[in-house]
Amino acid sequence: MSFRLFYPEFKNKALTFSYDDGQVFDRRLVEIFNRYGLKATFHLNSGILDSEGFLTKEELSTLFERHEIACHGVLHEFPTHLAQERLVREFYQDRLTLEECTGRIIRGCSYAYGEYDERVVNTLKTLGFAYCRTVDSTGNFSVPRDFLRWTPSCHHNDAFGEMADRFLNTPHFSRLSLFYVWGHSFEFDREHTWDAMEAFCERMHGQADVWYTTNIDYVDYMNAARGLLFSADGTRVQNLSSIPVYAEIDGEPRIL
Ligand SMILES: [Zn+2]
Repeated sequence: MSFRLFYPEFKNKALTFSYDDGQVFDRRLVEIFNRYGLKATFHLNSGILDSEGFLTKEELSTLFERHEIACHGVLHEFPTHLAQERLVREFYQDRLTLEECTGRIIRGCSYAYGEYDERVVNTLKTLGFAYCRTVDSTGNFSVPRDFLRWTPSCHHNDAFGEMADRFLNTPHFSRLSLFYVWGHSFEFDREHTWDAMEAFCERMHGQADVWYTTNIDYVDYMNAARGLLFSADGTRVQNLSSIPVYAEIDGEPRIL
């Protein structure tokens, strides 16, 4: 049996965005994403929300209705510098507060200052996080193996030119690809790059072969795909998750 995995609706490319810190500039960014039907994840510091220049807890559910809300630590502390008790609190309390404000179950995270080590990774895993994003850009569109050390494709400043061309021009017959762009919305204001971001979003939107997804939806889909059960002789496959998995089996499109 030949088996080839696809993204939902038999797409073979995925695009996701990840924005940190929850400053007020997220509002303008969400408006751009919504206009172009793009999906993103916003990593927030629950202990800093409601301060001047930052989003309010009250607006989260409405503002991020079509997007994922994820953790970034209660107070944006250096994770590797914290004693164990404080490290646990920094992320567990962040989950609790964001879940209480939104009524959602929150399982995503990004490392403040991109800082992490073995202890931090293991702590997040224990606290139930499904993934955590680093700032170690790969410069490519590879599918991540370890979601708790999720390496993005690039920062948005590096996404607008050659990376965008390369992603859109990847031929259909190549393997699954993921374009993962990260940054901070305040950078668009500080560096006067709102127009460049808007042009990028316009260019990326509406592509028939691209799955527009949040970080957590991507993780959940890939975990469902990786959890497929195959019979020992490789002729049968079963999906025990509630997420439909799209594949081509012996050349035939199948939704498992
Ligand atoms: Zn940050």
